[in-house]
Amino acid sequence: MQMQTPGREKIVALLQSKEIGRDVTVKGWVRTKRGNKNIAFIALNDGSTIHNLQLVVDVASFDAEILKLITTGAAICAKGKLVESTGNGQPVEVQVANIEVYGTADAETYPLQKKGHSLEFLREIAHLRPRTNTFGAVLRIRHAMAFAIHKYFNDKGFVYVHTPIITGSDAEGAGAMFTVTTLDLENLPRKDDKSVNFAEDFFGKHTNLTVSGQLEGELTAMALSEIYTFGPTFRAENSNTPRHLAEFWMIEPEMAFYEIKENMDLAEDFIKYLVRYAFENCADDLKFLNDMWDKELLERLQSVVNTEFVRLDYTEGVEILMKADQKFEFPVSWGVDLQSEHERYLVEKHFKKPVILTNYPKEIKAFYMKQNDDGKTVRAMDVLFPKIGEIIGGSQREESYDKLMARIEELNIPLKDMWWYIDTRRFGTVPHSGFGLGFERLLLFVTGMANIRDVIPFPRTPNNAEF
Ligand code: ATP
Ligand code: MN
Repeated sequence: MQMQTPGREKIVALLQSKEIGRDVTVKGWVRTKRGNKNIAFIALNDGSTIHNLQLVVDVASFDAEILKLITTGAAICAKGKLVESTGNGQPVEVQVANIEVYGTADAETYPLQKKGHSLEFLREIAHLRPRTNTFGAVLRIRHAMAFAIHKYFNDKGFVYVHTPIITGSDAEGAGAMFTVTTLDLENLPRKDDKSVNFAEDFFGKHTNLTVSGQLEGELTAMALSEIYTFGPTFRAENSNTPRHLAEFWMIEPEMAFYEIKENMDLAEDFIKYLVRYAFENCADDLKFLNDMWDKELLERLQSVVNTEFVRLDYTEGVEILMKADQKFEFPVSWGVDLQSEHERYLVEKHFKKPVILTNYPKEIKAFYMKQNDDGKTVRAMDVLFPKIGEIIGGSQREESYDKLMARIEELNIPLKDMWWYIDTRRFGTVPHSGFGLGFERLLLFVTGMANIRDVIPFPRTPNNAEF
């Protein structure tokens, strides 16, 4: 790994260094300081790894006032000799010759002075929680997964497309939207019927934050054939669950010439690739999270990589659920939208592996999904995962102009916002498919964290946008 950085060496590289005896400079934040009146041990972390570097300080050769400033949370620069460690737990340590304190952290008021805070408490200090082992690990894994997503698609020749964050269409149907406006809220312009006159707004119409890049993704797939988006999406759903955020990131590949089967193959291959990538590149962080929070994490990850996902019709899934020897909070019958408890029953209890559920009733799925010949179902596919429930939602898209229009009319979707989408079905339409992977749902699975608020640096949920 190339780990050059100006004026210091990264701890991740130093811990693997074989060049004992040389002079090194390290910079970072103090995790702990312990010792006696002769010798002090400082555990230093710079965020490059879950592991700390041990600094050994001969107390007599330092100004006592300086050493007093070195408390948990303080930022320092240390120079000294890299030596083999005599203690267990680390291969090398630094015999310190010189210390500079960049910033102190008052022991009385620094909130992370002690270890072992609850995840709930850490959410209240989201500005400081990246300094904990847990969030360091989560953020490094988050980075690695983002990188792996780009690598996967790039290696396959997919084109990364940036779809708009501000959208003029409110017909995407994926959830309640946040309005974007520059109108004076104290003095809103009104039409004769008293409704707000968005013609006077910045864009000359009502605009929202996007809930999905799919519709625009389809437009570009109709030219570049295989594309993906990876960006923030926003849903004003008032659902305070451990799996929903108001602002989350989504990966949405969209492929011309793919039918539902190829779409499922891609989704399964993609997610296995990401888990394998995490295994190969985030081993230390995964082991930490496994030992700290979720003793079955590594096992669960391994089982997903090594197993073929079940592919099952919605109708069969409902039959299994109706026969289940478990009482559900929401009763099941053909036609209902499945809840997380149902999805998890299929995955965790019945099949004990991930399930791709297809051919859902058209009434509970979006207007653009390809209609099956039975007149009742559409070619939707949801990928259901242990502990999470739905991690991916996708479908083959309806490419027939006539069938799409018929559905749009049935559902009374306002055409004036959608003409550009319909045009793809008028000019060179082809069979095509795509799906959306919720980035934070993926991270819930890969990190084993139980709450989606703990896999994004600054979560946005109802009544929470402090940081
Ligand atoms: P759910 O039924 O779980 O609310 P959905 O069916 O509304 O999800 P889709 O519109 O299919 O979700 O979005 C695609 C993917 O985006 C989902 O499979 C999920 O991984 C993720 N996702 C959806 N809503 C949220 C949210 N509020 N917070 C985080 N991820 C989400
Ligand atoms: Mn869905």
